[in-house]
Amino acid sequence: VTTRAQRSVLAMLATERSFVSAQDLHARLRGSGDRIGLTSVYRALQALADAGDVDVRRTDTGESTYRRCGSGAHHHHLVCRVCGATVEVAAPSLEAWVTRVARKHGYSVDDHTLEVTGTCSRCSPE
Ligand SMILES: [Zn+2]
Ligand SMILES: [Zn+2]
Ligand SMILES: [Zn+2]
Repeated sequence: VTTRAQRSVLAMLATERSFVSAQDLHARLRGSGDRIGLTSVYRALQALADAGDVDVRRTDTGESTYRRCGSGAHHHHLVCRVCGATVEVAAPSLEAWVTRVARKHGYSVDDHTLEVTGTCSRCSPE
């Protein structure tokens, strides 16, 4: 993390358990007395996402939301559609499958994403 904006954004994201939009994050930063501009928030989030410090998720309405990523290592997410609670999971068998299926078709893999959405135990009926 290099810029002041990135540090502020990351510190605020650390207090959030679920994905938040840039606008919400901006409002919270302003509420805490930070005079950061919305454009700076967007830029910081983009840089942090590129560096792998932040996860980006598109909502059903196409809005980008962000969350501080718990581990630097490659992983996947289980995301609750109702409350946004997110669990980071590693899946060695999935990684092996990706490599295998790509190789079978003559592809070399440089990246992949997988996100599992559903309802967490707290939000499940009963
Ligand atoms: Zn993550
Ligand atoms: Zn939930
Ligand atoms: Zn993977």
